[in-house]
Amino acid sequence: MPFTDPFYLLAIALFVGANILFLRSIWLLFYFPKADARAMDRFYRQHSLYYSKLDDRLKKRFLQRAYSFTKSLKIVGRMGAEVTLPVKLMVVAAMVQITFGFQQYFLKKFRTVFVYPDSFRNPHTGNVHDGEVHPGGLISFSLKKLLKGFDDPYDAVNLGLHEMAHALMHTILTSNSSMVNLKAVLNDVLAIAKVEMEKINSGGVHIFRSYAGANASEFFAVAVEHFFENPKNLQNELPDLYSKLAVLLNQDPVHNNYCIQ
Ligand SMILES: [Zn+2]
Repeated sequence: MPFTDPFYLLAIALFVGANILFLRSIWLLFYFPKADARAMDRFYRQHSLYYSKLDDRLKKRFLQRAYSFTKSLKIVGRMGAEVTLPVKLMVVAAMVQITFGFQQYFLKKFRTVFVYPDSFRNPHTGNVHDGEVHPGGLISFSLKKLLKGFDDPYDAVNLGLHEMAHALMHTILTSNSSMVNLKAVLNDVLAIAKVEMEKINSGGVHIFRSYAGANASEFFAVAVEHFFENPKNLQNELPDLYSKLAVLLNQDPVHNNYCIQ
């Protein structure tokens, strides 16, 4: 069959496109200007407790990943929100943190981020949100709430981590068979969610805020917020959930281990 056949042309175009993205991400990991690295290091030491706890080797890995995300993600200001470098760095900080234990980036589908000044209305549903994840590959944030989430690193409320948890859960559940192990662990987490959501919705005292009882997806997102910002209490109250999340994310914040294997 000749190579001018539309099928071959499409296959070649897809192959080249996929590899350009791959080569670009590799290039961004190596091409990392020292001045940018120093500025980002200063910024994250001030604004990310998670970053400040990493050892030098992992700090370098965090910066490389954050730099790569700032170059490859499309971060768009909406309703007058200004996308400055600090805003970009805070957006990608949550993305780097939740995927830090993985050898490869899992959130490849989510390449566009909308940043609004504050809570925003979804034009299709009419609902007002602080953050939203669209399965088509879009994540939206209220800038005010995103920054507030990092202001207090111990209150277990972090919009950035919350929305990234939704994106991660969607990615694992809709992925192909290469994530079969992660799917199995996530299903264990969701089994725990079922039991705990009943306790939350029955009005008893619970480590999680009541919003975690809304559905399994919100439970998972709130659990990830606690995992990073309230890990010791989470481990004491719900040890099985803590250990499953540690396996899933390949991180153990209680022991300051942010890349287990
Ligand atoms: Zn949510």
